[in-house]
Amino acid sequence: MTDELFRRLSAKTRTVTITNATIITRDEHNISRANISSNALKVLYRLNSAGYQAYLVGGGVRDLLLGREPKDFDVATDAKPEEVKEVFRNCRLIGRRFRLAHVFFGRETIEVATFRSKNDAEGRDEHQSDQGMILRDNVYGTIEEDALRRDFSVNALYYGVEDFSIIDYAGGLQDLEMGRLRLLGSPEQRYREDPVRMLRAVRFASKLGFIIDHESESCIAELGHLLDEVPAARLFEEVLKLFMGGTALIAFEKLRHYDLFRVLFPETDEVLRFEEHNFPITFVNRGLENTDNRIADGKPVTPAFLFAVLLWEPVRLLAKELEEEDDLPPIEAMQEAGYEVLKEQLQCVSLPKRFSIPMREIWSLQCRFKRRSGKQAQCLASHPRFRAAYDFLLLRAEAGETDMALADWWTKYQEVDDGERIKMVNALRGSGRSQKRRKPRKKPPVNSGE
Ligand code: ATP
Ligand code: MG
Repeated sequence: MTDELFRRLSAKTRTVTITNATIITRDEHNISRANISSNALKVLYRLNSAGYQAYLVGGGVRDLLLGREPKDFDVATDAKPEEVKEVFRNCRLIGRRFRLAHVFFGRETIEVATFRSKNDAEGRDEHQSDQGMILRDNVYGTIEEDALRRDFSVNALYYGVEDFSIIDYAGGLQDLEMGRLRLLGSPEQRYREDPVRMLRAVRFASKLGFIIDHESESCIAELGHLLDEVPAARLFEEVLKLFMGGTALIAFEKLRHYDLFRVLFPETDEVLRFEEHNFPITFVNRGLENTDNRIADGKPVTPAFLFAVLLWEPVRLLAKELEEEDDLPPIEAMQEAGYEVLKEQLQCVSLPKRFSIPMREIWSLQCRFKRRSGKQAQCLASHPRFRAAYDFLLLRAEAGETDMALADWWTKYQEVDDGERIKMVNALRGSGRSQKRRKPRKKPPVNSGE
């Protein structure tokens, strides 16, 4: 698709280079207004008619050129945030680190950012941390300066509605054609300014199937530790984008390749290094593959399940240790292990309670699947978190960590009617699988199956 597009482009291209930029005119590219959100177009037209420059930029332009559907549309303008607010009634100014205008249209929000300059011309800036990390970035600039302070060249293409051309200050079109992510400027400096750019490199490489160019990738492993400085809440957002964008498995493999997974999930990374019959890695791989398939099928995915998968191996091992060494009963050991692992994890990547609570339930319920006698199975099946816990059990069974017969039993249990369920539970007694030590009954049960 991309090759074909660019062959077409190159054949026609009569690009005119003016003041450091390459202009790709309307007849030389494939972006049509029909593929752009009408609200984004409204913002561009309205800013233009108020006398400001305004362009679509970032992922919207990049994805349209690649023939992909953009996730959202970002606008860049020479209007200051307060000036944007004057043009739109439905507008709110947000952010401290980056002051932005959000223009609301029902459920769609168009983000409007004022052109910024890199503000580092005179050495270290007062808004940088000791490590060179940018803490505030509100120095406004020209469109060219704005292009050069963006992360990757393919994210620095501008599309305007005045003449429908694309402006390329950074060689982004060529990189797009080559399927290459190239960080603008000195990679080391750009990663130091904002270490999240390393995660963005992995994310775009995974999502677009691009390679990270040699210079931009060679210092990642060495600078990965800088992510420790990034607030845990921002990393949570990035982790969601990495793992819930439909290419979680590739992202995971790339994160491990660049030794960045260790920074995000240190406990999991450590246990993955001691692979036991390949199990933990198979489990995580399957879990992520499952997430990707669900997204491809348009099914919902929840961060709770995703994090439960990613942290399961350290939780499982600690629970085993607590059972064996501290003599804790299985459910208690699991709860304690979940608590401990999560406490450590939250130091790196935050996880809102609305996700951590169901996630701990998914783990705790794993101990209850074996206990099926009496009313236990029925009670478990009506637990609000049963379905997620069952999906989790299936994954464990598929990865060879638990008995497939147990997962199959639960699969069948959900498919049959109440009468059949009672028979299934009663039949367990005969097979000697019942885990619970029961008080002796006075009368033998009817239909015991024995
Ligand atoms: P998508 O929305 O598909 O995830 P995107 O490229 O649009 O991808 P956004 O996070 O929406 O990503 O950011 C919009 C644009 O802002 C980017 O394309 C890039 O030009 C710029 N940008 C975002 N984050 C950074 C950053 N950390 N450093 C430099 N530029 C950035
Ligand atoms: Mg975007």
